[in-house]
Amino acid sequence: MAVLRFSFGTMGSGKSTLALQVHHNMQQSGHSGMLLARLGRDDSHVTSRLGISAPCIEVDEELDLVEFAYKYKAETGSLDYVVCDEAQFFSVEQAEQLGRIVDELDADVFAFGLITDFRGQLFAATARLLELADECVSLQVEARCWCGSRALNNARLVNGGFVRHGDVVAVGDTTSSGAVPLFGDVVSYVLLCRRHFREGKISAEEPA
Ligand SMILES: [Zn+2]
Repeated sequence: MAVLRFSFGTMGSGKSTLALQVHHNMQQSGHSGMLLARLGRDDSHVTSRLGISAPCIEVDEELDLVEFAYKYKAETGSLDYVVCDEAQFFSVEQAEQLGRIVDELDADVFAFGLITDFRGQLFAATARLLELADECVSLQVEARCWCGSRALNNARLVNGGFVRHGDVVAVGDTTSSGAVPLFGDVVSYVLLCRRHFREGKISAEEPA
């Protein structure tokens, strides 16, 4: 029987690496499926911070995943699985569609996503997936705050400063490239423990 499995964690918990590994293993064993992600950028690749990547199908807000899955099955002859990266950025409706893909098409769905946003609250799609999934897996690669405690929060930095307000979706990375864009602000994220997230203290030197 097919399952909806939701694996969640903070940034740096290896979600994309695992998504790529599952997709690779399924393909290697002769299964037919697709790799989806909501990236919000144009390169249409799931990229692991460890340096591997694979082409994916970019999910936008309008995409009906059930319809898309039926179409894939009609075109290729079978659909055994769907891997979704950055599932926290899916709509609530799309999270529900993943459950329908399992039930109606008997395909396994492996969704990977962040648990909380930069405000420290569950992403809407993450909350829905936690409610709907047959299996919820907390990724065991623990991220650490600068102080050494377990980091559970992805704090957002805009131009290096801690922010608590703004759009929930803003693409950035945990490692700064050092490049300053010509337009707009530099958005990056830093992993903090509960205490330092509450205090807004992003490093040992930074005054709280
Ligand atoms: Zn800390």
